[in-house]
Amino acid sequence: MEPDFKKMNGLVPAIVQDIETKQVLMLAYVNEEAYKKMMETKQTYFYSRSRQSLWHKGETSGHYQDIVGMSLDCDLDTLLIDVRQTGVACHTGSYSCFFNDIIPYDMSDLADGVYKTIIDRQKHPVDNSYTNYLLDQGIDKICKKVGEEATETVIAAKNENKEDLIGEIGDLYYHVLVLMAKKGITPKDIEKLLKKRHQISGNKKAFHTKGDY
Ligand code: AMP
Ligand code: ZN
Ligand code: ZN
Ligand code: ZN
Repeated sequence: MEPDFKKMNGLVPAIVQDIETKQVLMLAYVNEEAYKKMMETKQTYFYSRSRQSLWHKGETSGHYQDIVGMSLDCDLDTLLIDVRQTGVACHTGSYSCFFNDIIPYDMSDLADGVYKTIIDRQKHPVDNSYTNYLLDQGIDKICKKVGEEATETVIAAKNENKEDLIGEIGDLYYHVLVLMAKKGITPKDIEKLLKKRHQISGNKKAFHTKGDY
């Protein structure tokens, strides 16, 4: 099976994805020459439309992409390339090229999904579920965990490793959601409050009367 270069006037778009994080890294175009090179070398090659030439991704930056899998879409006109990324994918230094958010991500969607699972566990307990263990232990145990994770988040924030910080924020986030479930507070309640605050956020004093920010 091969991309339908004829139908695409010689240039097929390729979505490049990080095999480890599943994040979309970039989109570039592949001509027959680039495609052949990828088959031979198992690294990404594209056709640079700006330079009008074959482009071995990483040739100047050293940020090569090793191909671990490749597939074609239903009508053979788009490639999906899974890679192990060396360094970063974008020439701006960003890990992924897609950092210009147009429609901002709604954090509450993410919270809703996890929260729903927690509520589901509350209603239908599952063997060996950590969520059920926490809910059974009760409010003191949950609060203790929230405190611990908050402290770990603060410590991680002071270190350089971003992955560690993401991990700690994830833990904190989850435990706060368990606390909310225990107390009958929903992500919607929080969202409503934050939106209300956001409307008056021009005046910081309106919702932060005490303390520093
Ligand atoms: P590289 O292939 O990483 O050595 O980068 C060589 C050149 O290709 C850069 O200077 C950019 O002009 C271009 N380039 C590299 N990566 C990207 C990308 N992800 N998207 C668009 N252009 C890129
Ligand atoms: Zn399809
Ligand atoms: Zn298609
Ligand atoms: Zn880029």
